[in-house]
Amino acid sequence: MVSEDLKTCLLCGGRLKDGVSAVPFVFEGTVVVVKDVPAESCRSCHEPFVSGKVTDQLTTLLTRLKALQTEVSIVSYSDREAA
Ligand SMILES: [Zn+2]
Repeated sequence: MVSEDLKTCLLCGGRLKDGVSAVPFVFEGTVVVVKDVPAESCRSCHEPFVSGKVTDQLTTLLTRLKALQTEVSIVSYSDREAA
């Protein structure tokens, strides 16, 4: 889910709060869970909403992970600074 400065949940209309979330991605047949992603999450349904800038960082991180060829990966958002 991608949003810019959104303060209301697109799914249920609940209020969003700033924080960090673990966000799962399905990416070219692999599952990647990225922990500690800066995101606003819904107080009601807990859906995380990630800003466009963060999404760009995640895309870079996921693209690099593609080389690992693992079916399930758990990484931290801060890992994008490594390598
Ligand atoms: Zn919601």
